[in-house]
Amino acid sequence: GSRTTAVAADRHVTAVSDAGLPRTAVVGVLGGGQLGRMMALAAANMGVAVKFLDPQEDAPAAVAADQTVGHFRDAAAISGFATGCDVLTVEIEHIDADAMEAAGKASGVDVEPTPFTLRTIQDKFLQKQHFEAAGVPVAPYAEVADEASLQAAAASFGFPLMLKSKRLAYDGRGNFVVRTLDDLASGVAALGGFSHGLYAEQWAPFVKELAVMVVRSRDGTVKSYPVVETIHKDNICHVTEAPAGVPAALQAKATAVAEKAVACLNGAGIFGVEMFLLPDGSLLLNEVAPRPHNSGHYTMDGCVTSQFENHLRAVLGWPLGDTSLNCGSSLMLNMLGEADDGEGVRIAHDLMAKAYKTPGASVHWYDKAGMRKGRKIGHINIVAGSREEGRQKLAVLDPAAADSLR
Ligand code: ATP
Ligand code: MG
Ligand code: MG
Repeated sequence: GSRTTAVAADRHVTAVSDAGLPRTAVVGVLGGGQLGRMMALAAANMGVAVKFLDPQEDAPAAVAADQTVGHFRDAAAISGFATGCDVLTVEIEHIDADAMEAAGKASGVDVEPTPFTLRTIQDKFLQKQHFEAAGVPVAPYAEVADEASLQAAAASFGFPLMLKSKRLAYDGRGNFVVRTLDDLASGVAALGGFSHGLYAEQWAPFVKELAVMVVRSRDGTVKSYPVVETIHKDNICHVTEAPAGVPAALQAKATAVAEKAVACLNGAGIFGVEMFLLPDGSLLLNEVAPRPHNSGHYTMDGCVTSQFENHLRAVLGWPLGDTSLNCGSSLMLNMLGEADDGEGVRIAHDLMAKAYKTPGASVHWYDKAGMRKGRKIGHINIVAGSREEGRQKLAVLDPAAADSLR
């Protein structure tokens, strides 16, 4: 059942005394999916009080935090939720940023990262414009508002062409790969038509996708996690490997691009920066997430401090934890629903059973309501002494996933 209880503040060290730390706080989180759940689990271990706002009763985060049932795009729900929080943050960027800003002002609660940052990122077209203006390299892109601008984009970018929804995109669900002139119309239709708000991106002929998690505390301190290679399957993150198998100079360059991108946003918290590595060794920014990110899940087992703990430390203005690897190599395998209902559960359990037999592998289950094909239901982290050892362990769990890294 749902839980709408008040935060039991006296159970949390940060709410009863400052314990020598800069702030005492209840952290209010908009959204309570798997990212909120893993944030809440980290908070529970830290003695930090968290409550969260999510429309789905008994959302995944309810395992370790108090839920207010309401939508993160409902201004009244956000305003009520803000009361009693000392800082507001998100686990999803698709929130009502104006309402969050107003609620923060009305109740004197800081929003981290800032509403400006959330507003800029939640519209992927605005995000592209913002990064381009700041000199961060991005793939050529253009707004697609009607037949004429669609044809113009196709003529200038060629094929394949990536058609994208500006808003509410995740797991590639707002993307459509247009392979020929004949596919243009079906692409527009598949994404809800011109009125939905679309743009086109030139295809990035990447040799690898890289990602870097960057965390910034309230005092401006910035730390970056190792550069990760990400492998996507059907537009959804499938496997990550840290450190990425690229030369040190390229790792430094990717870190610099990621830190530059985060420097043009403001506010505290963790950011996931996705990049394309092109054949000539140059990098393009794909997008930034203003929150914990799938490419940072490995940090729960593979790094000294997880991305979830560091996000909380950052929004609280606490010292940031160590972002370095605690092992030679760390991999993550996403668990996606393979089928609806029972068959999907059986396949997931088989994979989990293999993980429990593999030394160095840890299961992270999201406890979502119902099994559905293509839905993120959990992930498996692997820690190993070396890249080869990590890949061998991955091959035991999922040979095709291991092959995709070679
Ligand atoms: P996320 O779940 O990461 O928020 P999203 O729905 O916002 O995903 P994108 O990150 O825009 O989607 O794209 C998903 C994937 O599609 C990328 O990681 C990449 O594999 C591929 N992709 C996106 N844009 C391009 C492009 N311009 N050229 C080639 N591949 C692309
Ligand atoms: Mg995205
Ligand atoms: Mg993405």
